Amino acid sequence: MGLRDGAAPRRTRRAAAGAPVATACPYCGVGCGVLASPDGSGGAAIKGDPAHPANAGRLCSKGSALGETLGLEERLLHPEIGAARAGWDDALDLVARRFTETIRAHGPDSVAFYVSGQMLTEDYYVANKLMKGFIGSANIDTNSRLCMSSAVAGHIRAFGSDTVPGTYDDLEAADLVVLVGANLAWCHPVLYQRLAAAKAARPAMRVVVIDPRRTATCALADVHLAIAPGADVALFAGLLNWIGSAGAIDDAYAAAHVAGLDAALAAAAALTPAAVARLTGLAQADVAAFYAEWTRTGRVATLWSQGVNQSADGTDKVGAIINCHLATGRIGRPGMGPFSVTGQPNAMGGREVGGLANLLAAHLDIANPEHRARVQAFWNSPRIAQRPGLKAVDLFRAVGDGRVRALWIIATNPAVSLPEGEAVRAALAACPFVVVSEVSARADTARFAHVRLPALAWGEKAGTVTNSDRTISRQRAFLPPPGEARADWRILADVAARMGWAEAFAWDGPAAVFAEHAALSGVAGRDFDISAWAGCSDADYAAMRPFRWPAPANGPSRERFFAEGGFFTADGRARAAPTPCAPVSAKPAGLPFTLNTGRVRDHWHTLTRTGLSARLSAHVAEPFVEINPADAGRLGVAPAELVELRGEAGRAILPALVTDRVAEGALFAPMHWTAETAPAGRIGGLIVAACDPVSGQPALKSAAVSARRFAAAWRGLAVSRARPEPEEWPQGCAYWARARRKAGWSVELAGDAPPDDWIGFARALVGAGSQAEPLAFSDAASGAFRAAFLDDAGRLVGAFFAGRGPVPASRAWLAAALSDAAPDRAALLAGRGPGETPDPGPTLCACFDVGLNVIARAIAGQGLADVEAVGRALLAGTNCGACRPEIARLIATRPRNAA
Ligand code: SF4
Repeated sequence: MGLRDGAAPRRTRRAAAGAPVATACPYCGVGCGVLASPDGSGGAAIKGDPAHPANAGRLCSKGSALGETLGLEERLLHPEIGAARAGWDDALDLVARRFTETIRAHGPDSVAFYVSGQMLTEDYYVANKLMKGFIGSANIDTNSRLCMSSAVAGHIRAFGSDTVPGTYDDLEAADLVVLVGANLAWCHPVLYQRLAAAKAARPAMRVVVIDPRRTATCALADVHLAIAPGADVALFAGLLNWIGSAGAIDDAYAAAHVAGLDAALAAAAALTPAAVARLTGLAQADVAAFYAEWTRTGRVATLWSQGVNQSADGTDKVGAIINCHLATGRIGRPGMGPFSVTGQPNAMGGREVGGLANLLAAHLDIANPEHRARVQAFWNSPRIAQRPGLKAVDLFRAVGDGRVRALWIIATNPAVSLPEGEAVRAALAACPFVVVSEVSARADTARFAHVRLPALAWGEKAGTVTNSDRTISRQRAFLPPPGEARADWRILADVAARMGWAEAFAWDGPAAVFAEHAALSGVAGRDFDISAWAGCSDADYAAMRPFRWPAPANGPSRERFFAEGGFFTADGRARAAPTPCAPVSAKPAGLPFTLNTGRVRDHWHTLTRTGLSARLSAHVAEPFVEINPADAGRLGVAPAELVELRGEAGRAILPALVTDRVAEGALFAPMHWTAETAPAGRIGGLIVAACDPVSGQPALKSAAVSARRFAAAWRGLAVSRARPEPEEWPQGCAYWARARRKAGWSVELAGDAPPDDWIGFARALVGAGSQAEPLAFSDAASGAFRAAFLDDAGRLVGAFFAGRGPVPASRAWLAAALSDAAPDRAALLAGRGPGETPDPGPTLCACFDVGLNVIARAIAGQGLADVEAVGRALLAGTNCGACRPEIARLIATRPRNAA
């Protein structure tokens, strides 16, 4: 096929321009409503939906830029067998035949599905039904295992069900909001904006941020507790001890509705503030002050995210938080409760259909024979999985050792996102049969597929998603399917039919799938009950407005759970589990740093979507590692120099961002970059796959690593209209990172040894034809080399800059020069605008394209004292607001910046 060989594909049937379509954002678990107005040319104008309860019209920078991610240039548009284009019938026949043969020869557990919180609920439901009810294995797991399965395990252990008791409204109504391991400002920006607005309207509201790093979210914090990585159990078990010692237990609630509290209190008895201070690295006075404030505040909401979940004791961390709310009865009432915020748009929907290997549909328990019988009867299926299946890390180990011999991966990129990435890649390469259903032709995992199936993307597919506060929203199609792409539910149903189960998979559209899912929830008898939708018609489904579950067919719905008990355990009482505080284990020899992993504001997962947007890529265009100035000094690392990290599982090379946001001995690196975008910047390869023993969630949040300065022989920067293709360069590079720009691409580079022929290297790098004569400059003494290639019309084809250290050229100006009809030639070789043109720096405000340097200069030069003043002067921060915490930080650090 060769996307590089021709012009970018276009949608074969044009969508009519039309009225806004109400849909939902496909990124984070906030689940914002979006109004998409197709422009008739394959694109769409995007606005927040003012009627959606999650966002009331707000969108963050990622949501606002959704219209820039609708292009088809990186799409998989046709089925492929091997590297060859194939027809759907051939591809589906092959998938069904190979799965059937494998099951026949090796049993149902020799096959597996690895699916995704990106899938719609209807897709998820069909995948789960096929694997658990018809194939008869529970070997279906999801990338939500990596995100929030410890929250699921903690909920089930405490509540008997995977229930989020409260709502977003409770966070706004709380008098004290505690954010644990959750950088909302970057990872759930609209929820952050809601909290910021609530605090502005009610300044007495207090916010405590518990995070090893001083994240952007700290701009909202009254208190930042920079806890030692992984010490959350100690902090919250100590809080439970304080609650007990202070006589703050709600005796009536605990006696009526909670079992196990005495044991949990006993397990925490030694955790005085002094002991907790030792374990957490916090000052004893800060620990005591936090405990006193939490205990005396009735309306307290404790929200957590991946900083809690992604660890080897994530379930206990969740349990330790929940215990404090159970002990005080602060659950299920306005403004209070434990609250898990999910990473993905439909992590919750996946939980509702039983998309994890240890769950059954409709929040039923796969280990419970009566539950299994109920589901099997509803599905009228020939069999039902008898035991939990393999969780993500174990599943790929089973692929690696040959127990799983046929694997279908849908809407996820495990070659990048799982820990021990090299072992995962080896397992995929060795697997006898790998099917990948994908949107992107360039996803790392797609390279390992024997069969590649083109799936519909956001804007093309129709279904539902559930956000973090149990609100179910419609995703609606507003663009025609491109190429031969199909809906995931339909692909799965077509394979099921070929495997002999046509009747059970004979839906005529997603509404029918949703109606069946809703009907099953009605017979399940659990917290998740949306049986009011059991008989929904296509018209009902088309008209669905966002609603929060439960929505039972009979009886009243309810806003919250558990204020009056009613837990989903055999005796109706919650379980307060003891959370013994494990001593902090010593770091492996020679790995003195703790690497903290996370996300950046404007990118999502493995860049297959946000990487398509030049605007989003302009915020952070390459991977990086944050390192404390003291550590950088000891290692001899200057800002922007490269750092080599080594862990037990692999190595990475990243540019240094020297900052006191991280403590000494700590590092932070984002997890978005891949073999496709920055191979040396992949973080998953560094992380050992240690898993929580209850949830099976891998400890992706941190890794023990060593760090040293990477002495590159040269550093480079290129901009080009053509996409730089590393396989066409005359020699490899130790580090490169490619990013989208408005009129082309940029690539940052570093090498172990200089190329023999700089001009030839530069020509290959920027895709300049042999006839294009370069403007060039080189200086052997300084090691500097610069070249710019112009076409016959005088337009810039590409430019390349190299030197012995980080290249000081203006990325923003050079990227803009790619679309300049007559760029200034002298300025091109200088790498910055003519005369005194200032470098705007990386984009801080994506909505109004305002660079960091522009804002910093305005703050210093105009004496701008607050975020509003910056907004009045530059518009920055006045639309989606995602950059407001960073502007606040620039203002707060102005004296240091000036110095
Ligand atoms: Fe999408 Fe941003 Fe809303 Fe998350 S906060 S759902 S990324 S618009």
